Amino acid sequence: MAPSQPVKPQPRLSPDNAVFWEKCKEHALHLPFCKSCGKPHLPPGPVCPFCLSDALEWRPVSGRGHISSWTIIRQGGLPAFRDEVPYNVVQVELDEGPRLTSSVVAPDDDLAIGQAVEVVFEEISGGAVIPRFRRTGGVKSSLSQGGAP
Ligand SMILES: [Zn+2]
Repeated sequence: MAPSQPVKPQPRLSPDNAVFWEKCKEHALHLPFCKSCGKPHLPPGPVCPFCLSDALEWRPVSGRGHISSWTIIRQGGLPAFRDEVPYNVVQVELDEGPRLTSSVVAPDDDLAIGQAVEVVFEEISGGAVIPRFRRTGGVKSSLSQGGAP
C-alpha cells in the first residue's frame, strides 16, 4: 500500500467567501460586485472596499487576466507541497481589476509579468477545487501602475 499523501490546506469558508468556493466547484469564477459603485473586489468581505456599501452581489467574470507578479518556491514548507518544489506562485490581475494569488499550470522557467492567462480549475487533495491559470500566449502591452496616473 502506498503511503498516504498529506492533504493540502483547504479554503476556510466564511459567509463572505463561500460563494467564491462553491462556484469554483462548478468550474466558474465569480467575484463580489458592489451594487452601489459597480466595482468588483477581492478578497471577499462584508462591504465594498471602495465605498463601504454592503449591497454586494456575486457575478461571473471572464477568468482572463495577466500575470502581475510571480515567484518560484524552491523549498518545501508544508508536507503536502514538498513533492512539488520548485513551483510557481503568481498574482493575476483579472481583466475586471481585482488581483488573485494563484499558480500557473506551466513550466516555471519562462513566466513573465504581463503574460496573458485564463483560469482553469483543479481539484486538490482534500476535495477543494481551486482556480489556477494557464497562459494563453498573449502579452498585455500596457500594465497598470497600481493607481498611478
Ligand atoms: Zn462600492
